[in-house]
Amino acid sequence: MSDYKFYEQVNKNFDKAAVYTRFHPGLLKQIKICNTIYHVTFPLRRDDGTIEVIEGWRVEHSHHKSPTKGGIRYSHKVDEDETMALAALMSYKCAIVDVPFGGAKGGVKISTRDYSVSELERITRRYTYELIKKGFIGPGVDVPAPDYGTGAREMGWILDTYRQLSDDLNAEACVTGKPIQQGGIRGRTEATGRGVYFGIREACSVKADMDKIGLETGVEGKTFVVQGLGNVGYHASLYMTGAGAKMVGVAEMEGAIYDPKGIDLTALMEFRKETGSIIGFGNSKTLPSNKDALELECDILIPAALESQITGDNAKNIKAKIIGEAANGPTTADAHDILKDRGALILPDSYLNAGGVVVSYFEWLKNIQHVRYGRINKRFDESSFKKILNVIENISDRKFSDDEMLDLSHGAEEYDLVDSGLEETMITAYQQLLEIRNEHKLNDLRTSAYISAINKIGIMYEQMGIFP
Ligand code: GLU
Repeated sequence: MSDYKFYEQVNKNFDKAAVYTRFHPGLLKQIKICNTIYHVTFPLRRDDGTIEVIEGWRVEHSHHKSPTKGGIRYSHKVDEDETMALAALMSYKCAIVDVPFGGAKGGVKISTRDYSVSELERITRRYTYELIKKGFIGPGVDVPAPDYGTGAREMGWILDTYRQLSDDLNAEACVTGKPIQQGGIRGRTEATGRGVYFGIREACSVKADMDKIGLETGVEGKTFVVQGLGNVGYHASLYMTGAGAKMVGVAEMEGAIYDPKGIDLTALMEFRKETGSIIGFGNSKTLPSNKDALELECDILIPAALESQITGDNAKNIKAKIIGEAANGPTTADAHDILKDRGALILPDSYLNAGGVVVSYFEWLKNIQHVRYGRINKRFDESSFKKILNVIENISDRKFSDDEMLDLSHGAEEYDLVDSGLEETMITAYQQLLEIRNEHKLNDLRTSAYISAINKIGIMYEQMGIFP
């Protein structure tokens, strides 16, 4: 059984869905293709004085909307194929959750552990400079964000570099996922994991789907295994356990652990910080290899690491009834078919992990509006709520305590609004996927997600009047 390269995998999924749409083959080709690919190399002077050549990419997959949007990945596995695949996934992801951006992705081929902080800063600033020089970054052009191996710190360096070379009033909107002090938004760090939780919660609330896989509705009481405790995996697990699900297995770079009685996430994170490893935690059993965790007995498997983890080789051993794709491309096309054949419910990456870009969109809006969410209306709302509560007190025997008054009259702050916008987006998008699945009598949410994306992008191209 053959597993394809990553970009081919994405296109294979695309082709499977395209037959359910009404678009001209030329238009479908235009949607599929990566519009611009920039490959750059530059020298880095290392702390010890030696010179190393660094390789990076930025791929803008689809210009049907501006700006294009997508993270920057730092990993020794980065290459052109991977960046193209991830950029394409960004286009589809944005369309599925109605974020008005085209898709893009960047990558630098380095293993972050091999570089000092000042070396990482030099790499990030130089990479940004190369993007600026070729017009691959800007608030209305292409807006990077964090991805595997990068975070708020790197986004802060990117903004600072951009600002040095531009007097654009909207400069802050050239990158998202920034530190709060540099125009970032509350709720962005946890957004992808939070979105994963909202998506799984939605899926688990559909009785007919749960009946089919022999599970009760609701997240509470379900067991799950997570692969990867990075930003996405950690936050997804945090909200899953918060809602009463039981974490029974964890896989990380150093290996995997299993405890059917449940693993305490906070205690595990502390243990890993102290010992540098998850191995030996509490009463857990150690598994021979990291990938064995994927095959554990559980209700929900959450791959939250890198692509191509569930392949034609191990898919048949996977027992989870729900696969929640928190990572990008964790399941190969062959593996997908094997899992579907045995009835698994797959929540596809392009929907499930879209929470990050949804909140990036809110951050970008905040930056171009130059005002924090809640700043204008919070106090006004609070005083209106207080007036209503006072009226209730006056016309009834009900008296509110100071604490109740404070709680009930609370005006929305930035975090509240971001979280509510994210929840609304994940729920609405899931409903759309279910409608498409029903309309085409499909048994597959990945194909439904691609149909949703192709339809939304295709209509944009049609409106440009180029295609019949
Ligand atoms: N890197 C994240 C993703 O793959 C976020 C992208 C963004 O916020 O632009 O979805």
